[in-house]
Amino acid sequence: VYDELKKNEKLAVIGQMAAAIGHEIRNPLAALKGFTQFQQENYQNSNNYFPIMIEEIDRINSIVDDLMYMGKPKKIKFEKASIEGIIAYTLSITQQQAERQGVTVETIMAGPLPPLDCDEKQLKQVFINLIKNAIESMPEGGQIQIQVKIISNQQKLLISIKDEGLGIDEESILNLGEPFFTTKKDGTGLGLMVTNQIIKDHFGEIKYESVLKKGTRVNVIIPIIHKRL
Ligand code: ADP
Ligand code: MG
Repeated sequence: VYDELKKNEKLAVIGQMAAAIGHEIRNPLAALKGFTQFQQENYQNSNNYFPIMIEEIDRINSIVDDLMYMGKPKKIKFEKASIEGIIAYTLSITQQQAERQGVTVETIMAGPLPPLDCDEKQLKQVFINLIKNAIESMPEGGQIQIQVKIISNQQKLLISIKDEGLGIDEESILNLGEPFFTTKKDGTGLGLMVTNQIIKDHFGEIKYESVLKKGTRVNVIIPIIHKRL
């Protein structure tokens, strides 16, 4: 228990630092992106590196977002949203990366789905993180299967994301969601930390089933109706 407390204390300090640094980086980064876009629009030669520059700025932006999440968990704003819409949005964001890596996505939605009580923006972040991880687990390409269905006597939504990637070993499974835990060359190890927090804020659960070199299935379970206290 003592170790756990000490760890939480350490994380709180790291989180505050990360949030403070993230905050400082955000403004100059916004300026950088704005001016880069402006230059792109006014540049005659279509053969240029502006798209890559903007893509990389966006990458820094999303890392900064994750860092800031660590410091102060945001207030969740529950509203009714369509899970179909959330998944479709997520796929539009990750489509380019999937195509580049030869990854296809199949979506199976079981019947008409009820609107979900959730913070739409944050749930989008969850599925972006999970689908990115699935894509990144298949450097040689493959298929992602996303299945959505109602379970627990109409009370909960199960969203499962299955890949045919590298899989996760038993020890790593225990570390998923620990801040900065990553096995990737250029990973941040922040994606699942943010994901776990958001799912917890939704009173949901996340579970991983994985077989090395075969693939991983991530099951996210979220109550459809959020009971207000
Ligand atoms: P990052 O993606 O930056 O490494 P994450 O928090 O998103 O950080 O993931 C942490 C680690 O969990 C990854 O580095 C990887 O080892 C493992 N992981 C997560 N999802 C998968 C998956 N679908 N397949 C294989 N490994 C995964
Ligand atoms: Mg990730």
